[in-house]
Amino acid sequence: FTLIVSKLADTGPDDMRGVMTLHDVTTQRRVEQTRADFVANASHEIRTPLTTLLGFIETLQGPARDDAAARDKFLGIMREQAERMRRLVVDLLSLSRIEQREHEIPTDKVILDEVVGRTAAALQQIAAAKNTTLTLDLDGKAVILGDGDELAQLVQNLIDNAIKYGRTGGQVKVRLSQTGQGIVLSVTDDGEGIAREHLPRLTERFYRVDPARSRSAGGTGLGLAIVKHIVSRHRGRLTIDSEVGKGTTFTILFPKG
Ligand code: ADP
Repeated sequence: FTLIVSKLADTGPDDMRGVMTLHDVTTQRRVEQTRADFVANASHEIRTPLTTLLGFIETLQGPARDDAAARDKFLGIMREQAERMRRLVVDLLSLSRIEQREHEIPTDKVILDEVVGRTAAALQQIAAAKNTTLTLDLDGKAVILGDGDELAQLVQNLIDNAIKYGRTGGQVKVRLSQTGQGIVLSVTDDGEGIAREHLPRLTERFYRVDPARSRSAGGTGLGLAIVKHIVSRHRGRLTIDSEVGKGTTFTILFPKG
């Protein structure tokens, strides 16, 4: 930083190069800082379940060696923790794969109605377990050029969140429609909603409104970061409308042509 400041002093007021360098370095620093934060966060997220697992293994090898009831209980917890790590690694891999392809334009002809139908069918059981009614309002001919697997993941992450943060016995609605601007996909729930101050940071990796709630619901904190990248690769626009106590709507506009 000191070096850049002295360079600025040398260049004089009419020369923008110093200013440009300062800007570039600031951006680069920010990118580096974000990357460092990400690695620190990811390591922490993996270390926590790992520490729990090791603790239970030690107990099972020591004090609880001959306690059958404790063994069953501990194995259940260990399985949950291992599942949590698996979900995290799966999401980390998805994120890195999507990022690697960020600048390739996806060109498969994808029938969004089918993607939404299939994904919603696969999530019906999870919805039923929470007594949530999942309804679809499809367009019938929503076709875009895209990546079918990524779009399925996008729909899955949004519906999954709507169920997870929705009311028990609530409603989740998925809609597809066409407007002059393009194809609109929306997922609406009537759950707890999100306070305004959280909205700008919601798609950041590992950002959670209520970390304990997210973790106990099996969240990795990466779902919306993955959604954001998929939307951007499809040149779409994501909007989040939410009212605390009323519910949330995630809307994506996929532009025409
Ligand atoms: P997580 O794995 O924690 O669900 P996401 O990236 O999918 O991670 O979401 C980030 C955070 O955004 C969640 O922890 C939750 O606080 C909030 N969130 C996401 N979807 C909803 C929703 N439909 N209603 C309320 N809050 C939500």
